[in-house]
Amino acid sequence: MTRGESLIHDFALLHDGERILETGSWDNIKNGFTGEVEDLGDVTITPGLINAHVHLELSHLQGRTVQGQGFTGWVKSLLGNPLYDLNEQAVREALLGMKQTGTAFCVDISTRNCAAIAGIMDELSMGFYACCEAIGLQPPKDGAKFFPSREFRHGHAAGSGHALYSTAPELLKAVKKADNDAGLTFPIHLAENEEEDEIVARGTGVFAEMLKGAGMLADCGRKGQSPVEYADSLGLLDRSTLAVHCVRVTDRDIETLAARETNVCLCPRSNEYIGEGRAPWEKILNSGIKTCLGTDSIASNHDLNMWNELEFLLKNINISLSAQDALALVTTNGARALNIAESYGSLEKGKRAVFAIVPAHLEDLLFA
Ligand SMILES: [Zn+2]
Repeated sequence: MTRGESLIHDFALLHDGERILETGSWDNIKNGFTGEVEDLGDVTITPGLINAHVHLELSHLQGRTVQGQGFTGWVKSLLGNPLYDLNEQAVREALLGMKQTGTAFCVDISTRNCAAIAGIMDELSMGFYACCEAIGLQPPKDGAKFFPSREFRHGHAAGSGHALYSTAPELLKAVKKADNDAGLTFPIHLAENEEEDEIVARGTGVFAEMLKGAGMLADCGRKGQSPVEYADSLGLLDRSTLAVHCVRVTDRDIETLAARETNVCLCPRSNEYIGEGRAPWEKILNSGIKTCLGTDSIASNHDLNMWNELEFLLKNINISLSAQDALALVTTNGARALNIAESYGSLEKGKRAVFAIVPAHLEDLLFA
């Protein structure tokens, strides 16, 4: 995944367990090398995968929500569960499964259990953003902190915004500033479904009433704007924001996201699972927007396997992507979007010694 380099055959990667010391062809590297050698056999390896959107807090909710009935129906079924009773065992198992399928870094969004999940990710050597999600209508107090300043070995605590309709605009702006001041990218769910369109444009709809009843309906201006237009008017869109979902984006919205250099995280299987439709992947990718992929939570997906996420996209997209461009969605692009390219996104000297093995059944799809 190094710029300008294509597939390298007979590839060898020298590492000390932490960092990559050298890469190249085995023929060159083996001269004078005396350490332990692991032969992976006839496989293709890629940089460790980046899952740019997951909610590990919901790991105990597999199969506990309805599918294909749209966002309001999905949220109702979600709320029928004990959402925030952290099941550490389920989180650990989810993380081990992610690691086994090649994920080396994830952006985790947590509403209540940010610190606990950060600790588990660090312990299991998963690279991470542990985002404490900002939600609610209270504007932040002066000097408010949105995430702990604790140092971790493998990741960072960060803040994220839930959504335009559920989080006070002043709060979204303040959390974004705190992230960006810390050199981190600000994630927010954006333009996910038609409910959001309606609330942002007019403040109406069944979901709006639900939120209002719970005292959680943010005033989005009701000026007929699209979520992207409204987010832009708040100054939330720039190259240090990760807009998650972007299912409901017009051509003009895509132009705006591209012009602001906002990063986009697509969650194709989650959108399908919930029944929200799908993002205009082709237009988004053709616009040059830096795009990465996320699984979203196990409460809206079948698994947290990034290869399956990529496979679903590649099998359903109407343009052909080069292997390089397809793999960038789960490696390089996420690394750049999240400002972690120093350690992730490519197999180069000095970066973290993490890689993924392309599943055999995906080789044809990627390298045909
Ligand atoms: Zn999400």
